[in-house]
Amino acid sequence: MTAATGLGYEMVVGLEVHVHLQTATKIFCGCSTDFGAPPNQHTCPVCLGLPGALPVLNNHAVELAIRAALALDCTVHPVSMFARKNYFYPDLPKGYQISQFDRPLATNGRVTLPGHGDDPSPRAIGVTRLHMEEDAGKSIHDRFTAATAVDLNRAGVPLAEIVSEPQIRSASEAESYLKTLKQILEFAGVSDVSMEEGSLRVDANVSIRLPGATALGTKTEIKNMNSFSAVVRALDAEARRQADLLDSGGRVEQQTMLWDATMEEVRPARSKEGSHDYRYFPDPDLPPLVVTSDRIERIRRELPELPAARAARFMTSFPSLTAYDIGVLTSSRALGDYFDELAARSGDAKTAANWVLGEVLASLKASGQSIDELLVRPAGLGDLLALVRDGVVSHTAAKQIFGVMAERGGEPRAIAERDGLLKVSDDDALVRWIDEVFAEHPGEAGRFLRGERRLQGVLVGFVMKKSSGSADPKRVNQLLATRTGS
Ligand SMILES: [Zn+2]
Repeated sequence: MTAATGLGYEMVVGLEVHVHLQTATKIFCGCSTDFGAPPNQHTCPVCLGLPGALPVLNNHAVELAIRAALALDCTVHPVSMFARKNYFYPDLPKGYQISQFDRPLATNGRVTLPGHGDDPSPRAIGVTRLHMEEDAGKSIHDRFTAATAVDLNRAGVPLAEIVSEPQIRSASEAESYLKTLKQILEFAGVSDVSMEEGSLRVDANVSIRLPGATALGTKTEIKNMNSFSAVVRALDAEARRQADLLDSGGRVEQQTMLWDATMEEVRPARSKEGSHDYRYFPDPDLPPLVVTSDRIERIRRELPELPAARAARFMTSFPSLTAYDIGVLTSSRALGDYFDELAARSGDAKTAANWVLGEVLASLKASGQSIDELLVRPAGLGDLLALVRDGVVSHTAAKQIFGVMAERGGEPRAIAERDGLLKVSDDDALVRWIDEVFAEHPGEAGRFLRGERRLQGVLVGFVMKKSSGSADPKRVNQLLATRTGS
């Protein structure tokens, strides 16, 4: 057992993650869930909480929540219940939030964290429960002077809340848990898991205790963290605050804290935000949610390949890949799909991985595109790699052709022909380029001819450049060697 805080205490962390389920309409009405519409465009009597409006459960949201639960190895319960969680808040027009309380959709799952550097064994963090609920609206404080505006477009967007066991022992382990969870949810296709758009939000329960202690210390809840790095900084700051309190003979008070990213500190929330007297009771407008075992098994069968399974398959099927290659290639489902198709087409996994990790990622970074938007599809890139393999174009020319394909699309052989990038192994052309290079670089050429063989590579480089990558480097080497009489 380690004192993970570096403060002589061990950190004990449980995380509550709220994820937007990727439905077209809200959880209890037909309003759109589109992000970024003008305020209050996507509202109706149900999500505005007008009297007499009745909620109707969105079947697709249930489908996605079950899929998420199964991807996290949870037990999905045949019957779960919706409850009213009562509290007053300006962006909660009904005065209560419909959630699941004592009978959640699913319980008892796990997220398995990959091993890392000093501890390479994987570690499972328990998932206590996964339940469904509706999101609240948003208060906007910076739109009007001295007034708060309320946007209810988000009110009623379906959420899955995923609660972990308090088994996380450090801020970096919390980050690893969140990254792994996000990856699983993205692979399962249940959410776009975008933190920028608020589709994934995290609250943390934190306490500290002396190493070796079994009882839990008094915990605080931290809210308002809006990136994974904010979670890491907030957890460290809160553990430090609690350690200072205990070291000076004080006590940790159970309360809700807010992370202030500007001040890099946690501070107590106003008492109302910390209140936990929700007076839950079953929602009289919604019948129990019944899920048949047939439905659960059908969804289980339809689950796509999840990150851990894909990493294991890549490791077995493509032994030439390193652990690093596999880590990057399974970081998102779309990237892995792309690589998978390219590797199958090219029959050379290592070359396929080098291109995906090199040109493809660099191109996406430069253009800001997602991989699905990239104009170079696996089929086209596969054709390009075949041209390199068959000696039709050089590696240098292939990179140039890739650039053209990424910018304007097109078929690699046609681009190579049009732009004069087919590999030239015609001796007359090569000799002409070599003569020009010798004339332009008399110093290097002279030293090469007098026996400095290491300059051969430099001269080949000049010829490749002069030919825009179209010269056949193997033949250029042979021709250069004949000049020294060897
Ligand atoms: Zn609505």
